[in-house]
Amino acid sequence: MKLQIDGDGCRLTVFVQGCARRCPGCQNPETQPMEGGRTIDTTAILQQMAENPILSGITFSGGEPFLQPAPLASLARAVHQRGLDVWSYSGFTLEELAQRAPS
Ligand code: SF4
Repeated sequence: MKLQIDGDGCRLTVFVQGCARRCPGCQNPETQPMEGGRTIDTTAILQQMAENPILSGITFSGGEPFLQPAPLASLARAVHQRGLDVWSYSGFTLEELAQRAPS
């Protein structure tokens, strides 16, 4: 049996704060308010990853990661450059994400 939590392998998961969806049965309701959580610099997250050589990637969860696209895109690029993978959860549909993408 394969145990999978927030993605394949051993991962660092970032739970972002803020989501307006209010889905019934949300797994992380404490992350829904736009206020709360704590601010962390993406370089600090990369440093945490560097200190754990068994990590295979990072997962963005929440909350809604795509409400904070710029810093998470930067973080994702840096993680990819290290040869690790990136997963992201989202409450947006693919069509909604495409509409939100900068043209
Ligand atoms: S999109 Fe995700 S975080 Fe947002 S309310 Fe729904 S389940 Fe919760």
